[in-house]
Order: sequence, then C-alpha cells, then structure tokens
Amino acid sequence: MQLRVNNHAEGSGHSIKKRPDVEKCVKSEDIARVYPTRLEKAKDLADIFEIVKDAVRSRLGTSRGGLMLGLAELGGSPNGWIGGLYPVATNVIVMNKGPMERIMEQSPELYKPYCFHILLHEYIHAIGYMDEALTRRKALEISEALFGREHLATMMAADIMQFFPTLTYPVPTPAPQGMNIELVKGFDRSSASYIC
Ligand SMILES: [Zn+2]
Repeated sequence: MQLRVNNHAEGSGHSIKKRPDVEKCVKSEDIARVYPTRLEKAKDLADIFEIVKDAVRSRLGTSRGGLMLGLAELGGSPNGWIGGLYPVATNVIVMNKGPMERIMEQSPELYKPYCFHILLHEYIHAIGYMDEALTRRKALEISEALFGREHLATMMAADIMQFFPTLTYPVPTPAPQGMNIELVKGFDRSSASYIC
C-alpha cells in the first residue's frame, strides 16, 4: 500500500520562502527582513510595542494583553540612568522620558532600536520573567532570531553598554511613590490584523 502525503502547509504562508514577491506578506519569523522593516516603518511607540508583542509571541509563544505604556521622568544622572521599568504586579510599562528625548536629539538612528530593546526587556518581565539574567538572555535570543546579529536592536541586547555606557537595568520593583505617568494612547491596540 502506498501512502500519499499531501502537504497541507503548502500555500498556508508558512512554507513559502523562495518567492520574493510574497515575502513581504508572509507571516513568518524566518524571513529576515520582516522585523527590521517593520521597525523602520514604525511611526510611534505604539507601533514599536506591537512589534515587541509579535516578536515575543512568535519566539516564546506567550503574550499578555491589557498592558499600557507610560512615560515618566524617572530621573537619573549622566553616571547612571534607566531606560524603563515594569513595576511589579501592575499593567504598565514605563519608559524614562529624558533619555528618549536625548537619544532622539543626539543619535536619532539609535532611537527605534533603543525603544524596541527597552520595551522588549520590560515586556519579558511583564509576562512573568523576573530573573534579570534570564530576561536579558531571552531579549538577546529574540532579537537575534528576528533581526539578525548585525542589527542595532540585537547589538543592544548583546551589550547595551557599548551604546549607553551608563544605562542600568532596574530590578523589577513596586511602582515608585508619586510617579507621574503620562499614558501613551493606542499602546495596546489589538494586533488581530496583520497588515502587509
Ligand atoms: Zn530588567
């Protein structure tokens, strides 16, 4: 008896890799340019966060809805500052406003990879990874798999100090008292539609 195997995956989008005309629309993390292109085209933080969520979902298989993004002055000095934080047991990721503005002014080419990296790091905490070393390792794995080793986002995940020597990652802690958070609109919009 002969068994005939039909490849049902054919045409589903996941197995198509060699046709450049469809590459743009194929929802597969294996295609190297998809994530870098999305990041280049991101218009705001809400866009960048969608990329973070998709990246985590595709590599770790988990996601968390209902998260908000806030901006706040988290302080710091040239000798030590943080990019963002996820106050434990909350539903908000907070980015430090000052450094974002500084990076945008001084090194605009680093701005999107930087925001992606900080959001990715804090999002990994938000889905339940509290261990700092493991969180960094996951951020690096995800960035490398989706952006490639040469991408700024991956280089930041590998060693943020080469870009920002005085950046430190805070350990996840409860929200600082009296933190004045400005919520970013459209941060956790539905990502049900994947537009190519
Ligand atoms: Zn951390």
